[in-house]
This record gives sequence, structure tokens and C-alpha cells, in this order.
Amino acid sequence: MPSLNDVIAALDALWPPERAEQWDAVGTVCGDPRAEVARVLFAVDPVQEVVEEAVRLGADLLITHHPLYLRGTTTVAADTFKGRVVHTLIKNDIALHVAHTNADRADPGVSDALAGALDLRVTGPLVPDPGDPSGRRGLGRVCELEVPETLADFARRAAQRLPATAQGIRIAGDPERTVRTVAVCGGSGDSLFAEVRAAGVDAYLTADLRHHPASEASQHSPVGLVDAAHWATEWPWTEQAAAQLDEISDRHGWGLRTHVSRTVTDPWTAHAASVVPHPTDSPGAPH
Ligand SMILES: [Zn+2]
Repeated sequence: MPSLNDVIAALDALWPPERAEQWDAVGTVCGDPRAEVARVLFAVDPVQEVVEEAVRLGADLLITHHPLYLRGTTTVAADTFKGRVVHTLIKNDIALHVAHTNADRADPGVSDALAGALDLRVTGPLVPDPGDPSGRRGLGRVCELEVPETLADFARRAAQRLPATAQGIRIAGDPERTVRTVAVCGGSGDSLFAEVRAAGVDAYLTADLRHHPASEASQHSPVGLVDAAHWATEWPWTEQAAAQLDEISDRHGWGLRTHVSRTVTDPWTAHAASVVPHPTDSPGAPH
């Protein structure tokens, strides 16, 4: 049975921590490097609900995409949101390890998993990593569809292939326009509009698109925008990452048992569709 140290060395080879963004906080949050690891749970968010799932499962290691702490803290008291997570993990001998922007930029990375979930053929990164001579690593991916389809059909494909969330999928742009090439970026992608325009793609699938950048992008370029829930765009990575660790475990004869959390940790829990066209024709209504 491998030690936590052995497993983390393998994870660091997949997602070298030095390739994370400067502001990021990746690596091991808690855990004894000498402890043995038999069962591993992958998830997007290190929240209490997921940690309790790890406890029920008897996991020794929880691997998440999002960091628990991005900045320093002066308390891990159990009556704080994150302190309770730390307490539950340590009391139950569960290590926590984070692969965030180092997993985004990897080959395969988070956006490869997103593209794979939609059966898109990846042609290269949207923002290539200058340190990669093979040109395969980097942020986001540019992809081709096997068969061109409308923007509305592409969004329906995303709705069918990504795990369900209250938000569902939103579109900006003409739903009937033809989509042959798309850029995808798991997680918040509205900082990459310039690269998306430069790639000359027909559509961009990402999450957390805000009013002003989305408005500008859809009015000043023909790119159709497809906005999914942040959690849903990154969840396919957990399956990809678990398969990668399974392969390593088989190669070393570790016999690890890996699991992927299906707990929906997207913070939005319900969606009310708009009904009335102009309900705000009253004094004092917000604009
Ligand atoms: Zn994210």
C-alpha cells in the first residue's frame, strides 16, 4: 500500500505545483506523508458536504480542484467554515491535496476533460504555455465539432453531457448560427475573450460570464457564448484525474480504490424562469 508521500509524488508528476499561477495555493493542505493510502476521493470543492462524503466512504485522501485556503489564516477553529473542514479531515485521518491552476494548464488538463465530455476534438490550447515545446499545455482548448450544429444544439449538448445544475446552460448570440469550432475553458473564463476572438472560433463554452464582458463580446464579435455553472465545467476533470491515478496505481500495483464525488457543490440551488415581460413599470423599481 502506498504512503501519502508516494501518491503525492505521482500527483505532482501529473500536475507539477510549480506550473500553478503565482496567486494560487496548490499542494497538500493536511495529512501525514507517512500515512498509508488505500481509498481516494476526487471532487471539485473542499466543502464540508464533500468532506463528510469522504468520511462515509472511508477515504484516506481527498483530492480537490479548488484550494481550501488561498491566503493565510489565523484560525482553524471548528466554528469557522474552513476550520470545520480542517477539523473533520484531521479527526478522520483524511489528507487533502489540491491541484488547481497546475491542473488547468496540464496535458491533459481541466479543459481537455470538458472537451471530452462533449465529444469535441481538441486541436490545441487556447492560451499555449510558452514553456511547453510540444504546444499542448496551456489554458483553455480550441476544438472542432465532428459535425457542425447550431449554437442552440451545441448548448443542448452541453446541457446533456455536463452534470445537471440549477443554472443549466445560457446562450448569448444567435441560437441558429452554425458552430464548427469552439473554445472551451473550465471554470471562470471571461478573462480570455481576447484569445477567443483571436482564435476565430464560432462559440465559447465556459462559466461565470459577467454582464459587461459578455455584452461586449457578443456585440463586437460573432462568437456565440455558452455559459454553464462553474462547478459543472470542472467536474469532468475529476473523472479524468481519477482515471489517471487508477492507471498509475495499476502500474505500481498499489491497488488504490478511487472514487469521484457526485455531490453537486455548485452554490446555486434553484432557478425560476422569467414569466412577465415587463413587471417593473412601477415607481422605484430597480434598473
Ligand atoms: Zn474553478
